[in-house]
Amino acid sequence: MTLEKSFFFGPHKICPTQIFYGSKFAYGLVNLKPIAPGHVLVVSKRPVARFTELTPEEVSDLFISAQHIGRVVEKEFSGDSLSVVVQDGPYAGQTVPHVHIHVIPRRQGDWKNNDEIYDDLNKVDNDDRKPRSALEMAQEANMLREHFPENRC
Ligand code: AMP
Repeated sequence: MTLEKSFFFGPHKICPTQIFYGSKFAYGLVNLKPIAPGHVLVVSKRPVARFTELTPEEVSDLFISAQHIGRVVEKEFSGDSLSVVVQDGPYAGQTVPHVHIHVIPRRQGDWKNNDEIYDDLNKVDNDDRKPRSALEMAQEANMLREHFPENRC
């Protein structure tokens, strides 16, 4: 199933081909510059910048969505653990001012020192992190979308 509606992620218009999951208050999109295979984002449908701006229903739906999505990306990308990260505000590393959860499959030894994952999360504009092609992102979203037949966008 292709999700027809596109959404904004902060200032970025997200193409429907990048979106693989939809719930009442949240959507899931593949990452333009993932720091690990299967690094995806779970985004509040309502475009607010800060976590405190979400209602209890939105918080609940966002995290339940992250739980569903985490289960799928951990399995599909052969992880053994997950990093589930919210950078809430610019001084916490947030670069896109729209509430989102990073869900990142983890494996033993993937980062030499575990907390270095945060250094990499914060190197969004680093030259080493080339944006992926629309085709690559669409292929990943197609694969993930198959796991969510109840999508609601
Ligand atoms: P943060 O720095 O916590 O706000 O995270 C922003 C995330 O959004 C990073 O993982 C970026 O790679 C990702 N990102 C930025 N623009 C896009 C986009 N147009 N589509 C998908 N992911 C994006």
